[in-house]
Amino acid sequence: MNPGDLLTEHFRLVPDQKKALHRLKVATIHDLLYHFPVRYDNIQESGTVASLAHGTTVTLYGKLSRLTAKKLWKSRRTATEGWFEDGSGRIKVIWFNQPYISKMVPENVVVKLSGTVAGKEKPYITNPEIEVVAGNAIADGLFRTEENSEAVLFPVYPESQGITSRWMYHALKKILAERFVQELEDPIPSEVRDTYHLPDLPSALIRVHLPKTVRDAEASRKRFSFEEMFVLQIGKQIERKRNTELPAFRVQADPGRVEQFTASLPFPLTGAQQRVIGDILTDFEKPHPMARLLEGDVGSGKTVVAAATAYAVVTSRPKGRISGTLQVAYMAPTEILAGQHFLSFIEFYRHLPINIALLTGSGCFKFPSKINREKPTAISRAQLLKWVANGEIAMLIGTHALIQKSIKFAHLAYAIVDEQHRFGTAQRQKLAHKGDAPPHFLSMSATPMPRTLALTMYGDLDISVLDELPKDRAGIETRLVPKEKRSEAYSIMRRELSLGRQVYVICPRIDEPDPEKEMALRARSVVAEAKRLKKEVFPEYTIGVLHGKMTPADKDSIMKLFSNGTIHILVATSVVEVGVNVPNATIIMIEGAERFGLAQLHQLRGRVLRSAHTAYCFLAPESLSETSRNRLKAIAKTRDGFALAEQDLLLRGAGDLYGRSQWGISDLGMEALKNPKLIEAAREAARYLVEKDAVLPNLIERAERTGALLHEE
Ligand code: ADP
Ligand code: MG
Repeated sequence: MNPGDLLTEHFRLVPDQKKALHRLKVATIHDLLYHFPVRYDNIQESGTVASLAHGTTVTLYGKLSRLTAKKLWKSRRTATEGWFEDGSGRIKVIWFNQPYISKMVPENVVVKLSGTVAGKEKPYITNPEIEVVAGNAIADGLFRTEENSEAVLFPVYPESQGITSRWMYHALKKILAERFVQELEDPIPSEVRDTYHLPDLPSALIRVHLPKTVRDAEASRKRFSFEEMFVLQIGKQIERKRNTELPAFRVQADPGRVEQFTASLPFPLTGAQQRVIGDILTDFEKPHPMARLLEGDVGSGKTVVAAATAYAVVTSRPKGRISGTLQVAYMAPTEILAGQHFLSFIEFYRHLPINIALLTGSGCFKFPSKINREKPTAISRAQLLKWVANGEIAMLIGTHALIQKSIKFAHLAYAIVDEQHRFGTAQRQKLAHKGDAPPHFLSMSATPMPRTLALTMYGDLDISVLDELPKDRAGIETRLVPKEKRSEAYSIMRRELSLGRQVYVICPRIDEPDPEKEMALRARSVVAEAKRLKKEVFPEYTIGVLHGKMTPADKDSIMKLFSNGTIHILVATSVVEVGVNVPNATIIMIEGAERFGLAQLHQLRGRVLRSAHTAYCFLAPESLSETSRNRLKAIAKTRDGFALAEQDLLLRGAGDLYGRSQWGISDLGMEALKNPKLIEAAREAARYLVEKDAVLPNLIERAERTGALLHEE
């Protein structure tokens, strides 16, 4: 047996198991060894239905069935009832006011259930917490077999239909018994392991899958989360080093010029803007290209930072030339955004002799032009490409159309990417290769992210943060709307609607392991909520729906109807990207608010932030525990997206970070993000080895395989 062997060479697998393993991206022995349990169940601490005592709090394992939701006519509450069953008996369970439970839990799924036993004559459990257990481990008898009778800790693996934790457990037992893991090369050098007290690879592999004690398991998990962060950091540090070895355009900006520019703005810069502009101008003078990430919440004024620093570039001459200027490229994710930026830059540079152009899939424009000195003029693509190639256009703004092969610059010295997370790494790289030498590179992002995540994913970049909003911002009122305040919230909505404003209603997040099903459930809840609002609350207004099951064309036409005011209330899922800014929308009501991460709530709230009028964000929870009340209060109090992202990470765990799937980090790696010391340590260790040129070749290869490092061309 070798780590690279396919599992199918050593295990007989039925088609469902093969499919499940494929979904989990587990193909080889190595993949399975690195497929870690999500947790360990201690079955001896759980009870059985037969031995329940009134008034006690219990944890049980078993199946849930026949969940049905109904309306209680007296109290107008909803109740969801069902049966819970283990090998010893069955008991009734009831949830109040959680109508989504029945949709979230499939029939006969095995769950871990915790709650308090009520009802003396006929016992039942109300509002228990439930958690779906990986695979059908318990139903399969994993916890009841003879051979395990002495064991207490059982690994529970990430869930996937078709494969059980029991199968994983036995397969890993067999693999680990082969003893070849003892020979595996440890990617973490021993000096690093010693420094940070990490177990070596073989013992960590054994103890993560077959732990004897909780401490064993924890030490191993810590090692593997370090390892994942370390591999990522190796990749990023190599990228960083490669970048410092490249030659760059030195832009010796005349500080007086930039000051002149900023003085011509209709507002004073914030302290944060001044600081970041300073960072960038300093980078321009270094002998290697800048590689910098600018993070700033929506509305923090990133565009001005781009404009001021771009100004320094377009007023500099190429080396050894007596005419012409260096060039800037500015890439935005949508035509609408690119168009908006084009107009902003015209405004910023109106009094200056700078040629600006716009390039998108649907047309090209230039400003100023001989024909019209006031407005942008449409020009042919061929003409535009010629002027970009001969350097006459100093500043080119556009969509990903900018990275097409046909576009060549004379002296591209500065490339800026707005909303960089909307582009892939490859697209960003292409933009960086548009000139004859690598340009200075600025990525801009409005997604607030905890510092540990930024250091991990963008470890190859220097990071600047705009942590200060301009002072003149219109207010937003964020309010918690529990059941009894709902009618009050609706009357504020009605008032705003009667003033001609518009409203978003966001439906609760529904988590479902199967993405197709999840999308269907969400679509259904959006349609149901829209119907309810039309029938019971706002019959006089036009209500539209937007969800992931719709075609792009349908989504587009709904968005148009909302932007032009035909639709007054838009009921949508949170996943739908509402690409267009609708400044007339002043209220966003978020249903099931406690189900969202804080950073995501903050992003949703951002949709009504651009309004000229006071905006409202209503957070309507379905049920409110003490913790979720505190979380929602936190968001009502602060407008700092970064602080909220940090709190999310600590309070709810990394799994809730907005857009987590895009990072490609495992659950274990995500856990590491809670630990700034571990992240710093992985970074330090990686930096040290890269600096010494002492990185093992197999580590470089692994960094490339996991996407942490790009292949060198
Ligand atoms: P974002 O960081 O979201 O890209 P923008 O650059 O679009 O933000 O800026 C949002 C708005 O704030 C723009 O209208 C911009 O002109 C304005 N703005 C930027 N900086 C300041 C400032 N220091 N004072 C007042 N308004 C500002
Ligand atoms: Mg912006």
